[in-house]
Amino acid sequence: MENISREQIELLIALQQRETEIDKIDVELSKLPVKLKEIETVLNDFEVLLEEKKTALSELKKTYRSHDADIQQHQGRIQKREVQLHAVKTNKDYQAILKEIGEIKSLISGIEDQTLACLDKIDAADEALRLTQEEFASEEEKIREKQAIMESEAKAHTARRQVLLDERDHLAGLIDAELSQLYQTSRSLAGKPAIVEVRTSVCLGCNMNIPPQMYNELHRGNTLRNCPHCHRLIYVI
Ligand SMILES: [Zn+2]
Repeated sequence: MENISREQIELLIALQQRETEIDKIDVELSKLPVKLKEIETVLNDFEVLLEEKKTALSELKKTYRSHDADIQQHQGRIQKREVQLHAVKTNKDYQAILKEIGEIKSLISGIEDQTLACLDKIDAADEALRLTQEEFASEEEKIREKQAIMESEAKAHTARRQVLLDERDHLAGLIDAELSQLYQTSRSLAGKPAIVEVRTSVCLGCNMNIPPQMYNELHRGNTLRNCPHCHRLIYVI
């Protein structure tokens, strides 16, 4: 394109700069849902772990209560036998009941051992639950802080994006229709960036040398060309 003012080229470069920044912001904003999802996953995992530990503790307490009830029941049996002892007529019956009482006592002693072991396990499970709760509380605080930072960054990005959009629209209104069309074509052919500088004969879009004659033409000013290699619009400063 010939007879194009320096000002027009600069407007186009400024417009592209806004678009590049908008693209970067869009990339950042698109990462946010994934990051927030990761946070939720960490918190959910912790909650599952806490539930497991609470269930383990409650199961142990249930076992403890069941041992306790067994002991009570066996003690009740002993009391009944002791009453029977007073009513027996023969030594043989007396000895039989004594033997039975001995057996029940030994049964109780076995259950008491289990009860003690169970109490140790309850203490350990209680401690494990407490530690997990502490860890969860501290982790949750850190995570919530991170989440708040992310959300405030996203808000800033969104506000900045709107400013850039407005600036881009304003610039677009100042650019000649023909130049704007060239820019759109270059963008769809070559991608972004669509307009690049040529420095010491090298296109900064593809890092290839452009023909000397084209370089000279660009140097004469007021002109834009397409790079013969990458097809981007090229200019010299
Ligand atoms: Zn190029």
